[in-house]
Amino acid sequence: MNFKIITIFPQIFDSYFSESIIKRAQKQGIISIYSQDLREFTSDRHRTIDDTPYGDGAGMLMKIEPLYQAIKKLTKKANKKRKVVLLSAQGQRWTQQLAQKYSGLDEIVFICGRYEGVDERIKNFIDEEVSIGDYVLTGGELGTMVMIDSITRLLPGALGNEASSQDESHSQVGILEYPQYTKPEKFKIRGKSYDVPEILLSGNHQKIKLWQEKQKKSTQ
Ligand code: SAM
Repeated sequence: MNFKIITIFPQIFDSYFSESIIKRAQKQGIISIYSQDLREFTSDRHRTIDDTPYGDGAGMLMKIEPLYQAIKKLTKKANKKRKVVLLSAQGQRWTQQLAQKYSGLDEIVFICGRYEGVDERIKNFIDEEVSIGDYVLTGGELGTMVMIDSITRLLPGALGNEASSQDESHSQVGILEYPQYTKPEKFKIRGKSYDVPEILLSGNHQKIKLWQEKQKKSTQ
């Protein structure tokens, strides 16, 4: 899976993407991540990518021309299994089900908005608009990281244990994972003992499985 990101802060991703599962997935060739500096597609001395909105309105908007040029460069090769996605507070809500759908693609181009957002004409050059939640962020970069992280976990080989991404919360709509415990069996603190449920110590795998199924919570 190739992830390509159009941003005015290409270095903002370095720290998160160079650790843990995302780092390993890149090393193993499961994913590649490329961040494209939008300012490369400007021709003026100040490398301007924003301007004032027409009509009344506060703040600045991202201009269409550099964005169009960046999309053009990153989508040069035809690819039916690619999506161009605009991060936007107004988009379709990102869910585990959408992450599963996107994990079947082989390329995603992310457009990270900034300022008051993007010139509306961008809608002619994207496939989808995605929001990571009903709140407003300063830019699309955090949303892009959230999407890349949640998609990568679903790609074959990205997690050590294949089963772990199938059993997780939200894999089935509205179902949360069962509670889990690790050593010690008894955690004694302030005169109280917090114990691991006996069933998990029983060694009876059938009973444990049944207990875990029962413990799964529903969000609905
Ligand atoms: N004026 C816009 C509005 O009211 O919808 C908000 C612009 S926001 C300050 C700047 C950029 O952050 C957006 O263009 C978008 O790329 C990103 N962004 C903000 N909230 C987001 C969210 N909930 N999900 C995804 N991206 C978001």
